[in-house]
Amino acid sequence: MNAAHPDPRIRILDEETVNQIAAGEVVERPASVVKELVENAIDAGAATVRIEIISGGGGIERMRIVDDGTGMSRENVRLAFLRHATSKLRAIDDLHRIRSMGFRGEALASIAAVARVEVVTKPRGSGAVPATRLVISGGEIVEDEETGAPDGTSVAVEDLFFNTPARKKFLKSTQTEVRHMYAIMEQIALAHPDLSFRLLHNGRERIATQTKGTLLDTISTLYGSDLARDLIPVDGRTAYMQVEGLIAAPAHTRPNTAQILISVNRRQISSATLARAVREGYGTLLPKDRFPVAFLSLTIDTGLVDVNVHPTKREVRISREADVVREIASVIRETLRSARLIPQASSPPVPGHAPVPESGYTPSAGAWQVAAPVRAYHPVHREQSATDTQLRLTENTADETAETEQPGMEVIGQLDAAYIMVTSSSGDHEELILVDQHAAHERVLYEQVRAKRERGVRSQELLVPVILTLRPKEAAAVREALPLLLAEGFVLEEFGRDSFAVRTVPVVLGKQVEPEVIDDIIADVIGDELRSAANKKEGITCIIACRGAIKAGVHMTREQMARLLSQLFRTDNPSTCPHGRPTMVSFPRERLDGMFRRT
Ligand code: ADP
Ligand code: MG
Repeated sequence: MNAAHPDPRIRILDEETVNQIAAGEVVERPASVVKELVENAIDAGAATVRIEIISGGGGIERMRIVDDGTGMSRENVRLAFLRHATSKLRAIDDLHRIRSMGFRGEALASIAAVARVEVVTKPRGSGAVPATRLVISGGEIVEDEETGAPDGTSVAVEDLFFNTPARKKFLKSTQTEVRHMYAIMEQIALAHPDLSFRLLHNGRERIATQTKGTLLDTISTLYGSDLARDLIPVDGRTAYMQVEGLIAAPAHTRPNTAQILISVNRRQISSATLARAVREGYGTLLPKDRFPVAFLSLTIDTGLVDVNVHPTKREVRISREADVVREIASVIRETLRSARLIPQASSPPVPGHAPVPESGYTPSAGAWQVAAPVRAYHPVHREQSATDTQLRLTENTADETAETEQPGMEVIGQLDAAYIMVTSSSGDHEELILVDQHAAHERVLYEQVRAKRERGVRSQELLVPVILTLRPKEAAAVREALPLLLAEGFVLEEFGRDSFAVRTVPVVLGKQVEPEVIDDIIADVIGDELRSAANKKEGITCIIACRGAIKAGVHMTREQMARLLSQLFRTDNPSTCPHGRPTMVSFPRERLDGMFRRT
């Protein structure tokens, strides 16, 4: 924790302090063990931390965390496994100043209570003094001896939950557990780019960051240089805090907030409120339903941050949160503004040649150069042919002579590239109808995907396979979801380390799917929502329908709008999208009269 006090004394917290500490389950799953032990290594001032995971037929068999931190004296290590034994907190008032990851003195005790733990530790710089080796099983010290070892600490945990069979039963598959470990290690590595973390799973290195690295190095190691190249540095100071980090150019978008990573005083936290603040800073640079990629480190006066609210410290309480939210949004907005994201005017399309206009931004301070295509500036004719393809795929093939016009309905225009305006007359009544183009096409696709499944899923090969380059955590999730994806018509093949080639997709998506659509589908399939969904097949059908459907923001021709309407009215349930939202809203004459107070 601090180099000034190598191996500070461990004491047992008094009862009053204990009672004021957020209690709860620290060891929820194997990944919590990794988190707690790695945080202890960081608190012990380690420069390098190695995480070794061994799994086999019996699940996660062994986790070992090795650090080069302060180590512990024999006296200290014997205390460390007692409940509420900590060197980081003396009294509850210290909490306002706490900078260490830990402070409750519960982790080692909780882990040792439900596993078999072997710790070998030697105080840093103690020279020839022997190291101590303890073995603790179910909370009892069963071996205690002197041994030889390098400075630092290694803690190995085996047989997790051996004496709590009920919890053992609730463990998820090895892949799921390993995925949680990757996720936690990614977050910790991003919050501590200056430390080196190496994670080995069954001897294979999965994550490796460097000592003295920068945030950019860490991002580049974890997510690849493509993303690293498009990052904009953030460095803002506001009344209450400092906001530092890197945010991605708006060309990088995600369907959810999973890629907005935030640490508060170097503690990685999960906060929907802060993630929303970051999204708000991007404003209209992103399509409505998309989220940015951002890595932010907030330094806030420790007196304003209460870390004592959640047993695993995933959440913190920030005083003046409303100010903090506003300031984050404004720092992001300013950063993007001074990065001068200037879309270059697209030249008129040359026949037979589809230009891809580039939107480059000229950075204010040097190092970043981005030239990524921004979808919003695609020439309209490209958009139209893509829409044609999408509509052709959902045309009812059994009914080839189908009229594109819906009898009695007339398309009068499109509002804000999102709503189709229609008049409909029946008898002597006429009404105005607004149709949500995305929701409408989603309904059409949804019924088709479902009907196809009943007749046996048909899939087709893509003209060009789409390559997904994933992070270890995502790759593990995709591996886990392979059977589910296959059942839906997606054929994915492993393609090098953590990459997959998508060769085959369900027929409704067509032969030339935008890679972004596939990306989004996979992101949703491995996302939390589907994982917790009761009916996975239904969930995946909704995902395909939603991601494959025409989006808001797409300009359509009158003919395309008419085709979409006629497809919509052939579905069993034209008035709502699969999520239950309306596809259309009507304004009958009487309602308009009422609105105009004409009675
Ligand atoms: P906490 O981290 O909340 O203090 P723990 O149960 O995780 O509680 O650890 C208890 C104590 O053991 C710590 O306060 C620290 O003094 C010592 N300790 C734990 N892990 C290490 C380590 N890797 N290196 C040095 N000391 C450690
Ligand atoms: Mg701890």
